Amino acid sequence: MTHIAVLGSMNMDLVAYVDKAPQRGETVTGREFHTIPGGKGANQAIAAARAGATVSMIGAVGNDGYGVRLRDTLEHSGVDTDFLRTVEGASGTAHIVVDDEGGNSIVVVPGANGTVDHLSPGDESVIATADALLLQLEIPQAAVLAGAAAARRHGVRTVLTPAPAQPIAPELLAATDLLVPNEFEAVTLTGRTDPREAAAALLDLVPEVVVTLGATGSLYLARGTEPLVVPAPRVRAVDSTGAGDTFVGALAVALAEEKPVREALSWAAAAAALSVQRVGATASMPYRQEIEAQYT
Ligand code: ADP
Repeated sequence: MTHIAVLGSMNMDLVAYVDKAPQRGETVTGREFHTIPGGKGANQAIAAARAGATVSMIGAVGNDGYGVRLRDTLEHSGVDTDFLRTVEGASGTAHIVVDDEGGNSIVVVPGANGTVDHLSPGDESVIATADALLLQLEIPQAAVLAGAAAARRHGVRTVLTPAPAQPIAPELLAATDLLVPNEFEAVTLTGRTDPREAAAALLDLVPEVVVTLGATGSLYLARGTEPLVVPAPRVRAVDSTGAGDTFVGALAVALAEEKPVREALSWAAAAAALSVQRVGATASMPYRQEIEAQYT
């Protein structure tokens, strides 16, 4: 079985559904409220575990009720939480207001995620035994860089999702093997508006790039090879939350299993297409058998 390590965030999403979002100073009555485990690190860990890998999650939750639930959620998906620390204080939370038009506004409070600014004892040993290390930017970049450097020392592939979009330290890009931005992130990182041009510009910084293009699919570029365009299956999307994380988790598993790149991208697209047809981020992530059935 392949082994994927994830170094990243865990958040409890606190989602209120309202007719119309409140203005400053205004109070409105909401319709519904849900607490949904999330955070890009946890999302990618669950996606990879369901896609068939052994997964280790490195990060932190707070010593509050949300922390207990976040840890339980990972464990129920079969993710190893031995390297998930519980720290004093609040877990990461995302406060989300969704209005009737599907628009949302979000406040993220990093909480325990903010304490993950270095590797802790034992983290490097679990990274060393992995086939790939999945990284995102919802924890301090110092830790993301330390993780990527540790992976590099042990010849472990590093996969970076540059979200939320922000400037990235050159040392971190230098320690990245595969960068997987969505279109917005690719444009933000490069200042180019055409995804192909953006991907080409990113190839000056990292050896392999996949730009995800929503319902259109994905674009893969590697140094010295022709670009690959892999379409997404045509499906009726109801909720694309977590589509990118599902794609990355499944892609990492397929690449670790040494599937050829085009096949790995189609496999990841099959997984992400399944997830957008169902509501919720982690709740909608498909299991390996479903991906196999959808994949053609
Ligand atoms: P993010 O969720 O990070 O914004 P994208 O919107 O690019 O990223 O979606 C990631 C991947 O999810 C896409 O490359 C595609 O494979 C899949 N996907 C997203 N939206 C759809 C859709 N409407 N239909 C089919 N696949 C989709």
